[in-house]
Amino acid sequence: MHDFYYKSRRFCCESVDVTEVARSIGTPVYVYSHKTLTDHYKKWDRALSGVEHMICFSVKSSSNIAVIRALVRCGAGLDIVSGGELFRALTAGADPAKVVFAGVGKTEEEIALAIKEGILMFTVESMGELELINKVAGSLSTEARIAVRINPDVDPGTHKYLKTGKKQSKFGLEMENAYEVYEAVNAMPNVAAKGIQMHIGSQITDAAPYVESLEKMVPFSERVKKICPGVEYLDIGGGMGIVYTNETPATADDFAKAVLPLVKETGLKLIVEPGRFIAGNAGILVVKALYVKRTPSKTFVIVDGGMNDLIRPALYGARHEIVPVVREERETITADIVGPVCESGDFFAREREIPAPRSGELLAIMGAGAYCFSMSSNYNSRPRAAEVMVHGGEFEVVRKRETYEDLVRGESVPDFLL
Ligand SMILES: *Cc1c(COP(=O)(O)O)cnc(C)c1O
Repeated sequence: MHDFYYKSRRFCCESVDVTEVARSIGTPVYVYSHKTLTDHYKKWDRALSGVEHMICFSVKSSSNIAVIRALVRCGAGLDIVSGGELFRALTAGADPAKVVFAGVGKTEEEIALAIKEGILMFTVESMGELELINKVAGSLSTEARIAVRINPDVDPGTHKYLKTGKKQSKFGLEMENAYEVYEAVNAMPNVAAKGIQMHIGSQITDAAPYVESLEKMVPFSERVKKICPGVEYLDIGGGMGIVYTNETPATADDFAKAVLPLVKETGLKLIVEPGRFIAGNAGILVVKALYVKRTPSKTFVIVDGGMNDLIRPALYGARHEIVPVVREERETITADIVGPVCESGDFFAREREIPAPRSGELLAIMGAGAYCFSMSSNYNSRPRAAEVMVHGGEFEVVRKRETYEDLVRGESVPDFLL
């Protein structure tokens, strides 16, 4: 599942002692396992080997160019949601012919860049977007490939911020409205329909919502193929869940077993877009305990990382395991583990039982490989953490810790204030 473990008392990533990383790079620091990342990719590749398929890693989950590069070298395609992610993909050496571009608000500039680079296809989320893609492709004297994102109206049973495939969601189009989009493609000279796409949510631990969606997508795809015979791909999105604490998510094999029969019925090539599944358990955030503050009603462990570094507990009420980097016999305390940011939402855990840390000791926040660094900010003017990638017994910084100069880069005082 991942390559973080205790070697006697010391927490390691692959064969690297996490304490060594913190000593040489400082804290807070993200540590990624190259092996875990690529193993997770290979699990999907094996699970889907019965059908023609492409695995497009979702760049927004973990966007460092070293992470992208590691997966591209395994043969991964990429799922992107912005021009910035396209730039990252190209910088990491991705093949544009394996890139799919999703998102409800693509700008004209982003569309033009993606067409010039020759991406596989856009996932179209509205008629207005289709018209713009057609216009931009026309002005570049070319044809752009598209898939229409379908909102199958299923409830994936996850946090409300992580549902994207319900009728009330801003994402995708209902099947009844999507037919006319495929018909519109036929009437436009500079777009070609290549696929059908869906993405129903994130941290989905059961294959059932995918099966429920695909049961609707199979007859839908039959009608779409009659309208647009050039449709080749069925893209079922990402969203497959992982273990954070006590979840028992379906494995890649479980998902494959449940969905492949339906995919085969469509006769289309399969695309999946996992993000969290590949990256989530491939990273940790290492922080240092600064103070243990005891008040009459509570105990707080104050650490040097904050919600600006890892916002999932504050944003989704997410629960991450937190473990000592050096394990020792200690009394256990029940404490809130909090950061230095001036917000009451700045916590990593509440009422958590942990071996009482001493000031200066290191803690590892588990499951921090996806939607953690990529969501980090400079709030409270805190430089962003460093990122490190471990490979066997070696580690390398893949993003330097930001400096104070980085914080004010691009800012200036206007003349009238001089
Ligand atoms: C975010 C996103 C994904 C990845 O979701 P995970 O839950 O990380 O697997 C895939 N496809 C699209 C369109 C997305 O927006």
